[in-house]
Amino acid sequence: MGKPTGFMEYERETAKAESPLERIHHFNEFHTPLSKEKQRQQAARCMACGVPFCQAGMMIGGMASGCPLNNLVPEWNDLLYNGCYEQAYARLMKTHCFPEFTSRVCPALCEKACTCNLNGDPVSTKENERTIIENAFATGW
Ligand code: SF4
Ligand code: SF4
Repeated sequence: MGKPTGFMEYERETAKAESPLERIHHFNEFHTPLSKEKQRQQAARCMACGVPFCQAGMMIGGMASGCPLNNLVPEWNDLLYNGCYEQAYARLMKTHCFPEFTSRVCPALCEKACTCNLNGDPVSTKENERTIIENAFATGW
């Protein structure tokens, strides 16, 4: 766990999105991502749960819960918080080959299963994933 008190210090914050009526006029990115520093704070909200339901990818009562790809969510949340971007990218790629898509269009079952939901808002895992992969593209990794 990058920061043991992160989930108590930082509120969930996500990227701003253009309204649907504006975004239908183009095919460009319509999210304004958080700054790298703010996204690191969001990663700090992850508690590295002993049983990380976010990455479980299991069927419960006929419904899928947690990331179906079993992405190593708490591990790369921790690496992102600590600024270890290349290691976070390597960890993400162990289970995933198209995070540039899922970090935009996935219904984020990881977030629905996040323990932080019990007492507040889930970790913004989907956008943390996007930061890791976009940084990897930007640096040429
Ligand atoms: S957003 Fe990423 S980590 Fe979450 S369920 Fe989708 S693919 Fe898995
Ligand atoms: S369930 Fe939420 S808080 Fe727990 S390890 Fe997964 S992302 Fe982090």
